[in-house]
Amino acid sequence: MAETGKAAIYTDVGNPFEIREYPVPDPAPGGIVVRVTSAGICGSDLHIWRGDIRITMMGPGPRILGHEMTGKVARLGANVSTDSLGRPLKEGDRIVYPYFTPCRRCYQCLRGEFAACPVKLTPIPVSDNAPHFFGAYAEYYYLGDAAFVFKVPDELSDEMVTPVNCALSQVIYSLGKAGLRMGDSVVIQGAGGLGVNATAVARAMGAGTIIVIDGVPERLKLAKECGADEVIDINEATAPPDRISKVMSLTSGRGADVVAEFVGLPAAIPEGLNMVRAGGTYLEVGNISLGKTVAIDPSSLVWQNKKIVSTVMYDPATLSIAIDFLLRNKDRFPLANVVSDTFTLEQADEAFQKAEWEGQQTSASRVVITP
Ligand SMILES: [Zn+2]
Ligand SMILES: [Zn+2]
Repeated sequence: MAETGKAAIYTDVGNPFEIREYPVPDPAPGGIVVRVTSAGICGSDLHIWRGDIRITMMGPGPRILGHEMTGKVARLGANVSTDSLGRPLKEGDRIVYPYFTPCRRCYQCLRGEFAACPVKLTPIPVSDNAPHFFGAYAEYYYLGDAAFVFKVPDELSDEMVTPVNCALSQVIYSLGKAGLRMGDSVVIQGAGGLGVNATAVARAMGAGTIIVIDGVPERLKLAKECGADEVIDINEATAPPDRISKVMSLTSGRGADVVAEFVGLPAAIPEGLNMVRAGGTYLEVGNISLGKTVAIDPSSLVWQNKKIVSTVMYDPATLSIAIDFLLRNKDRFPLANVVSDTFTLEQADEAFQKAEWEGQQTSASRVVITP
């Protein structure tokens, strides 16, 4: 008799999640069925949930959301006997893996630019169709292509590992792309899951002054514990010019070498660009909702030799760097505390309401569902 697994099903904006059960599939050769143990609610999941990104435009039907997760090997497909570093892999091992699949058959992949593969992320299929488990908010996850999979050492808790395949790898990869160097001053706009992880990563990369901007006291406190030298509370510095002049005064009037946007609102961009020093770099990561625009003055970039670098996702090799970073820094930064709230699958509605920050104040830095 086939085993079944539960999933929290999303149908459309405003609808509560429904719990459905599906048969646990057998993995295809080269794949893995994962028993999900912890799944984070990331900014992009909130974008879908609240309707900024209309997932049902791809056709109506039930879907399993969520992409930031960790779990254990439940069923190992034929031809998978090791992880991506050649270490033996067996059922029960804890793993991390990308939630996207570079095709390895395009110009970008051929050049080793896996994060830029134009087809790495496919739309989430309808969950009533086999193999059903296409998202993280479920007991199982179907990893159809286990080309990039990494074992997780026992020393790391699920709380620490949950953000590895999204927030943590994303910030490690993006700060590298921005060319962050030892001694560089850094401004981090937004201290959610991405921003707090970025603070710790920038500190570990040898950054100089790190300034973090947010409006939630708990997040600002955590940012300080994760290496921020200065924090700017948007409830105190309420207007962009106030925040820009604070950054200027904290960077000897120059502006920061790197300013990184992890807020996800277009309005953060012109503000952040004004915090970049002449010749410095603006790193854009947070804005993923299509069709949202903002006005900028391009001459201010040209006359000051400012660069804009944008990244989405990461090179899968970053996952092993992220695990190594956690092992080395787990006692230095309280990154497990980024997980602020934990809910069960059945509590998916409460979990999303807790994570929601648009139009309300939330104390949450990262809400996690443990299926
Ligand atoms: Zn994410
Ligand atoms: Zn490709």
